[in-house]
Amino acid sequence: MDETLVNNQKHRITLAGTDQSFECDSDDVLLRSALRNDIAFPYECNVGACGNCKFELIEGDVDARWPEAPGWTAKDRERRRYLGCQSMPRGDCTIKLRPNQHYAPLHQPKRVTGTFTSRRSITHDIEEFRFELSDDMRFEPGQYALLTLPGVSGQRAYSMSNIVQGSQARVLDFQVRRVPNGQGSNALFDRLATGEQVEIDGPYGMAYLRRDVKRDILCLAGGSGLAPMISIARGVAQTPEMQGVKLHFLYGGRTPRDVCGRDMLEALENFGSHLHFDAAVSDASGEQWGGHTGFVHELAESKFGDGLRDMEIYFAGPPAMGQAIQKMLLARKVSFGQVHFDQFY
Ligand SMILES: Cc1cc2nc3c(=O)[nH]c(=O)nc-3n(C[C@H](O)[C@H](O)[C@H](O)COP(=O)(O)OP(=O)(O)OC[C@H]3O[C@@H](n4cnc5c(N)ncnc54)[C@H](O)[C@@H]3O)c2cc1C
Repeated sequence: MDETLVNNQKHRITLAGTDQSFECDSDDVLLRSALRNDIAFPYECNVGACGNCKFELIEGDVDARWPEAPGWTAKDRERRRYLGCQSMPRGDCTIKLRPNQHYAPLHQPKRVTGTFTSRRSITHDIEEFRFELSDDMRFEPGQYALLTLPGVSGQRAYSMSNIVQGSQARVLDFQVRRVPNGQGSNALFDRLATGEQVEIDGPYGMAYLRRDVKRDILCLAGGSGLAPMISIARGVAQTPEMQGVKLHFLYGGRTPRDVCGRDMLEALENFGSHLHFDAAVSDASGEQWGGHTGFVHELAESKFGDGLRDMEIYFAGPPAMGQAIQKMLLARKVSFGQVHFDQFY
């Protein structure tokens, strides 16, 4: 008999001071198991870095999967505070946590098997990897999933670049940037063979397309942040009620050879009339570049100024880019209720 089936047990996790509880498999973590059970457990990155999924352990015992996780401090340990995304139960537990309806999953996340079927090159260091799933996975444009990759410790978060279209809930495309010496990205680029299977857990993330908001949209992408923004643009094109909405897509790269995304947007209806692409590079020295030079947040500010206050804004990319965008939007007095992002780590 399969050893994992024999060893896998279910534990009851109770939220202190409430009548809420849920069952968590012994090989699952508290955060994801809660979301699978419709409990609105606050989180963001899901990979141990942001610290947004902390809870207090009142009774019981958990294993911290990644004790060195940057989001878990010595002070947290003293106070019996743990990361939901890294904590596996050793038995029944009682935890203190403030659920927040903002995090209630639109689609309950689940673990499926993904078979790696194909890849294509996007730039010199970004490729798209396609997986076919053993089971349907519904998700919203802009969301991400967690991949368990061979020989890699922990999981890696990658955003879907495709959208769900009927039977396509069985296919996920990820656009991944190769990170020098990065375990997960290099496993995808160098080791994963066609036909190989990995565990994919999702969907997760709060920076998904708000289809009920009809104001114009600004998507800002930098580096590996391409995928979720492409997915959002595809989602807008797919939604009949959003046909009057204009979408401005700005891509920021370091050098001209990093710039990408335009061809994927050109393939959508309304490109040129309702869908616009522009790009900026921070270093154009020695290369032919007729576009903007500078950072993508500077391009957004110079193009839209106070008009940013009237836009629904989505962004994804490296942490420094995210911080610069937030600072600029704060200075422009843009309400953060209309700004959506899941910080990349
Ligand atoms: C919400 C979100 C969406 C993302 N979407 C994309 C995307 O669409 N495309 C893209 O290219 N990148 C994306 N990333 C970044 C991606 O998840 C990886 O961080 C990146 O590929 C570098 O991983 P690496 O393994 O190559 O590098 P490494 O330096 O080996 O690993 C860095 C990442 O792995 C985590 N990590 C390291 N060790 C462990 C461990 N033992 N246990 C658990 N976690 C560990 C870290 O928290 C960090 O996230 C996203 C990140 C987040 C948080």
